[in-house]
Amino acid sequence: MFILCRIEECMEEVNRHILGLVEEQTHLLHEMLLREDRNKIRDLIQEKFIGKIMEVHNGSLPAELIKEIFINMYNLELKYLDEKEERKLLVSSNNNVKFLDINEMFGLGYVNPTIIGGPCAIESTESLEKVAVMLQSLNIKFIRAGAFKPRTSPYDFQGLGEEGLKILREVSDKYSLYAVTEVMDTRAVDIVDKYTDVFQIGARNMQNFELLKEVGRYNKPVILKRGMSSTINELIYASEYIALQGSRKIIICERGIRTFENKTRNTLDISSIPIIKIETKLPVIVDLSHSLGRKDIILQIAKAALAVGADGIMVEVHPNPQTALSDSNQQLNLLEFKNLINGLNLLIK
Ligand code: PEP
Ligand code: MN
Repeated sequence: MFILCRIEECMEEVNRHILGLVEEQTHLLHEMLLREDRNKIRDLIQEKFIGKIMEVHNGSLPAELIKEIFINMYNLELKYLDEKEERKLLVSSNNNVKFLDINEMFGLGYVNPTIIGGPCAIESTESLEKVAVMLQSLNIKFIRAGAFKPRTSPYDFQGLGEEGLKILREVSDKYSLYAVTEVMDTRAVDIVDKYTDVFQIGARNMQNFELLKEVGRYNKPVILKRGMSSTINELIYASEYIALQGSRKIIICERGIRTFENKTRNTLDISSIPIIKIETKLPVIVDLSHSLGRKDIILQIAKAALAVGADGIMVEVHPNPQTALSDSNQQLNLLEFKNLINGLNLLIK
């Protein structure tokens, strides 16, 4: 009996030591995470810390067991620290800050899903009007079109600038549509604000933090597109930049990411949709045109996006895609767009 009590006491003593050490280890990991990239730290754990433990280990326990214990311990601590960090975000589903859904942002009744259609770029009043007439006839509320185009080559059509914004406003008003357009530069936010109903932050600017902060100061919905090489976490943190300025009207847009696959322009990360919906309170839409870069599979992929919970889709449509000044391969013509909407069997009220 006496011996058992001694062993129990010793066990408690050992546990107390371990507890203190686990606390200390987690604290050190936290300090490292503040200074260094997560992946680097994972490498360091694997290659340096675990390696060192194996070198100094000369006790009776098998090396594999020791290794497993330490790896599990590090993984659990990292998971805890990640979750703790994510819980703090305003946009996180774990706190009670209220963000608006798309219908609330625009005072619309129950419209589900949201459809945003329009040409890649504003080219002329006539051509934009043809799209607007068709959108209105389908009871669609949102038109998209770029006046400032982020083109890979500086020699390609860059958009009509303010002239284009004026056309977009005029056409949107005439056909009772909400205008969505990209803003690429902090210096242009005021001017874009004057003409648009929704700011679009393009993929190339997802981590332009000054631009995110600037649009977050306006009481205007922001569509934040996923960067072409960004992780879901980076996208969520980017949305947090906007939220921190007071904005509660943020729409996440999955638009595909760059992978080795080249049958599509980008690879649509279908899993990001439910993940973002689980982890945040933000609505998620899918830009089918920039994800795919092709038109022939757009109906199937639109159905897939909606099936996994997307709140809406964005599609490029142009009266005559062959002559479009940008993205001519992926823009639907008016009939193709109508067929897409009919094919989705939506009840748009
Ligand atoms: C766009 O929607 O006009 C656009 C340029 O898309 P992304 O930023 O996703 O490439
Ligand atoms: Mn485009």
